[in-house]
Order: sequence, then C-alpha cells, then structure tokens
Amino acid sequence: MTPETVRPDETRTYDVVGVGIGPFNLGLAALADPLPDVDAVFLDQRPGFGWHPGMMLEGATIQVPFLADLVTMADPTSPYSFLAFLKATGRLYPFYVRESFYPLRSEYDRYCRWVADRLGSLRWGRRVVAVEHDAATDEHVVTAVLVGGPRDGTRETYRARHVVLGVGTTPRLPAPLADLAAAWRAGQAGPGPVVHSADYLPHRDALQAAGSVTVVGSGQSAAEVYRDLLEDVHGAPGRPGYRLDWVTRSPRFFPMEYTKLTLEMTSPEYTDHYHALPADLRDLLGREQRGLYKGISGDLIDDIYDTLYRKSALGQQVPTTLLTDTEVVAARHDDGTGEHVLTLRHAQLGREAEHRTRAVVAATGYGAGVPGFLDPVRGRLRLDERGRLDVTRDYTVDVAGRIHTLNGEEHTHGVTAPDLGFGAWRNSVVLANVTGREPYPIERRIAFQTFGLPDEGPGGVPEAGREATEVAR
Ligand SMILES: Cc1cc2nc3c(=O)[nH]c(=O)nc-3n(C[C@H](O)[C@H](O)[C@H](O)COP(=O)(O)OP(=O)(O)OC[C@H]3O[C@@H](n4cnc5c(N)ncnc54)[C@H](O)[C@@H]3O)c2cc1C
Repeated sequence: MTPETVRPDETRTYDVVGVGIGPFNLGLAALADPLPDVDAVFLDQRPGFGWHPGMMLEGATIQVPFLADLVTMADPTSPYSFLAFLKATGRLYPFYVRESFYPLRSEYDRYCRWVADRLGSLRWGRRVVAVEHDAATDEHVVTAVLVGGPRDGTRETYRARHVVLGVGTTPRLPAPLADLAAAWRAGQAGPGPVVHSADYLPHRDALQAAGSVTVVGSGQSAAEVYRDLLEDVHGAPGRPGYRLDWVTRSPRFFPMEYTKLTLEMTSPEYTDHYHALPADLRDLLGREQRGLYKGISGDLIDDIYDTLYRKSALGQQVPTTLLTDTEVVAARHDDGTGEHVLTLRHAQLGREAEHRTRAVVAATGYGAGVPGFLDPVRGRLRLDERGRLDVTRDYTVDVAGRIHTLNGEEHTHGVTAPDLGFGAWRNSVVLANVTGREPYPIERRIAFQTFGLPDEGPGGVPEAGREATEVAR
C-alpha cells in the first residue's frame, strides 16, 4: 500500500524549514523562536536529540568554551543559553567552582536536549527525502518520511520560503577500510569489529574482547579512542588484556593550535578573506590548516604519554605500537587466522609492511556532500567545477539565495564551518537573510590582525538588504 502523503499544516507556508537538528539548526531554532516575523519548523530523522553518542566518552570535554553554546554569541540574554541551563538545573554553582571554560561533552549534550525540549518548532522522526521548487508560488516543497512509530513510512510535505540545511557531516573511511568494514558488517570478515569512531562506544566491549585492536587516524577522536582503550590494555576484572596499536598518516601526533592570534582566524574577517580566495588556493590552505582544528588537544597527547609511562613503570611491557607517517593502503580479512590484515605504507621509507590485527577503529574523519534530497532542485544549485556546493559568503547555495547551509561550507569558508563557536554568528546571518533585517547584531570585525592587505577587504557579509560588495568596517 503506497504510504499516504499528508500536509500537517495544510495552508501554512513557513519562512524556514530546517533539515536536520544537530547543534547548528537547533541553535537556529532557538534564535528564531522569539522572532515574530519568523515562522519556522525543523525536521530530523532521529527520534530525539543526541550529540555524537558513539563518542560520548566519560570525562571528554567540548573543545570550545561554554560561550560557544547555541545562542550566547548572538544574544547573551537568550533564555536558551548554557548558563540558563545550568541555573535551571541547579548546576550553576558547581560549574562556577569547577572553574573550567570547557563543559563536559555529556553536559553539552544534556544542554542541547534541554533546549530541544523547550522549543515547539522541532519535529523528530522525519527523514527529508526531497526538496522541490514550486515555480507557481516560488516556494519550496519539502517532503519528509516518518521514521518508526505507527505512521512509519507516511510522507509529509512542508512549504517554505527558505530551506536551511543542517544535516552535518557523515563518517568517512579510506577505501580499503570502507571495504573491510562493509565485509565485517555483512558477516564476511570474522567477529573482530571494523568500525568508524562514530560507532565506537556501542562496540567497545567487542573491540576489547577481540584480543588486538588497531586505531587508524590522526585527530581528536583517534586519540580519545586510543586513550580509552589504553586504560585496560593489561586487562580488567573479568576481561583479558589486548594488544593496542595506533597508525596515523600524519608526520607526528600534532596538537590542535589554541594560540590567540591563531584563534583569531575563527572570525568573520578571516572567513571573508578565505572565501574570496580562488578555490584551488582554498583547497590547499584547507589541507595546510588541518592543525588548527583537526589535531589533538595538547592535554590529551600528554595524558596518553603519562599513561604509557605509568603503565610501563612497573616493568610491564605495554603491548602497543604508535606509528606515524604510515598509511593504510590495503586491507583484507584472513579467514584462516581470523585476523584483519592491513597493508601499511610508510611515507618516508616508501616501503610497505603487513600489520595483523583482530579489530579496527577507523577514526578517519567526516565529510560533507550535496545531499541527495536536493536532486529535484539541482538546476537551481550553485555548484563548483568539482560538483561541490558553491556557497556564497552569506551561506546560500542556490541561485535565489533561499537555500542555506550550516556546516556544509568548509571548502568555501574554512575553519569556521564545523566550529560550534561560530554557529550563532552564522545563524544571525541566515536570519538576517530570512527577515531582511538584523534581529541579532552581526559583528563584521572582531580581530586585531588584518587578513589580506590593509583596507582592501574582500566582500564580506552584506548588511541586510544591501549588496555584498560593501565592506562594513
Ligand atoms: C565526536 C565529535 C566531537 C566534536 N566536538 C566538537 C567540539 O568540541 N567543538 C566544536 O567546535 N566542534 C566539535 N565537533 C564538530 C561539530 O561541531 C559537530 O560535528 C557538530 O555536531 C556539527 O553539528 P551539525 O548541526 O552540523 O550536525 P550534526 O550534529 O551532525 O547533526 C546533523 C543532523 O542532521 C540529521 N539529518 C541528516 N540527514 C537528514 C535528513 N535527510 N532528514 C532529516 N534529518 C537528517 C541527522 O540525523 C543529525 O541529527 C565535534 C565533532 C565530533 C564528531
């Protein structure tokens, strides 16, 4: 039976339909909530908010200060701020005494759920499958399918002037590991898990029970998984120890850079500068700037060293190898031994070696793409020669400037794209585009340094209703 299609709000055309409710669209929902001229609804395929559950490691903190919550950088008086959450949940004084700018990851997740519970514009359990453009009314028609529950499979349509993409990024595995992971999921590569770090926690027990685990990757997630597994490498009550190896392509286990003049690159004016550069140069810079936000927090690197030191202090060999400059170039499963066999290539030596392990965690990052549900409006999208969204400085991706992206613009805007600290600023720009005014002040200059040559200044974000060419200093 073809699932029915319903229009929950028959006559309504929203100003905004948001697709995906991660921190960025949740922040947009919270900032839009008090605005009388913004009628918005947000759809997410999941049953409720949950922030990276596979990496919700105990004790892990977020990498940005608590001011980088959903709303404060746009509106410090918002009732949806992290401080408001702490006050409402009786945790303000403990947070004050703790004297750390960096909330626990679990706390940030709880905060987002607290905000989500207070917003009436969120619709969970809805997977968006198509965005179309109705030329007659010049509106977008967003179709979602209900996921789970008695009406599973029912299709709903929503009409909207603006569509905001907040679908986040998806786990990426290098081809050899992607194939091995697929074989493992299909039950054709033995019991030892081969998973992306996004799915780490649900598989932790099986990884530790496998007898040997190899972590592949160079960033914060790889380090967190390695540190978590290192704790019980010699075994724990009721569980034997295991071998633990860490392989990274990077020339060293490099720290994320937190120095203040570098942090000024997480700014509107550096984003103006970056966005105005030719695409090839942006791609090159993007690779070079990995250290800014794809490295490992310095504290964690030292904690790993100290843990290795502590575990070897009693003369017990720590069954681990840490390899840099080494890439996984091939992977297969050996049915005979039950092992996964990784072919490693050392970049400087130019030589290869076989590495046998019984389980793999690929902490190999995430990537954004052009969501399939945009196919019906592909002709209206701005795409670059590599088929990526050619995102304007004020975050739109279509010719009419009414489809916006949050965190799908790393290749055009650089380091600010995935940064929680920049979410509220970007949302202020989107709301300015939607309302034709600036409901939240948009800072155009925050840095002491100048990017590019003095007083030359690239386009920057236009004042609401004014062309992009003017530079507001
Ligand atoms: C483990 C981890 C820790 C991080 N920690 C930090 C940090 O401390 N500081 C920082 O600045 N950044 C951090 N980041 C980077 C970034 O901020 C996060 O990835 C953040 O979650 C991105 O938010 P988002 O709103 O773009 O998307 P996501 O959080 O990925 O959410 C996207 C949502 O879209 C939904 N969705 C996707 N497709 C559809 C569809 N077709 N229909 C309906 N719903 C859909 C998904 O269900 C999901 O709920 C971290 C990233 C990871 C992986």
